[in-house]
Amino acid sequence: MRLYVNIMKTLEANVSGVERLMAEKVTTQVLPLVLVDIDSVLGDANGLLLRIIEREFGCKCTRDQITHWYLSDCLPITQEQENDLFAKYFFNELLDMELVDGTLAGLSWLAQRAMVWLVTARPAHCDGDTIDWLLKHDLPHHGLTLHAGCKTTLLAEHSIDLVIEDKGSTAVAFAERGVPVILFDYPYNRDVVHPLVRRVSGWKDAVEILQTLMKENP
Ligand SMILES: [Mg+2]
Repeated sequence: MRLYVNIMKTLEANVSGVERLMAEKVTTQVLPLVLVDIDSVLGDANGLLLRIIEREFGCKCTRDQITHWYLSDCLPITQEQENDLFAKYFFNELLDMELVDGTLAGLSWLAQRAMVWLVTARPAHCDGDTIDWLLKHDLPHHGLTLHAGCKTTLLAEHSIDLVIEDKGSTAVAFAERGVPVILFDYPYNRDVVHPLVRRVSGWKDAVEILQTLMKENP
């Protein structure tokens, strides 16, 4: 595993004073750098979306029905309703998102052994809600990049050891660039098969794989 000293460069504009202090302390240690997604890895995005769909459109759907990334491709809602859904999701609802099972224990375990860099592609107007939500749940992390856009562009300046994601195309994009990925399993990402992508059912599973990886790459 490599040494990470440059993370502050990218994080400078995005981290609070406390986070900056934490990052300065860890830059002198040899720790793996792990990129961790927020929606559907830390937070139960699907649960929140399903609640909004039922409330706004009177349509009761299940998690198993979410078989595509675009919800109007798999649920009985129109493209227009999907746009409306995400407008609501990103503007008013994020603070109500619950945690994915095992998130706090899993992330706490990881943050003691690696630099946890949270990265989200949520639009910029969600920045405040995202930070408030992380504080609300006291989720440990060393760095945070908001409205990241295309996450693989971070590879231009950082040696990233591992990515934890749920979006299939992002997982494949990192894997094709040689970065191992732990992919949280959802019906909409089951088409992803790549030797560097390890599929997990949740945080408990992820920690078991991380333990093995860290033993193999001390
Ligand atoms: Mg996600």
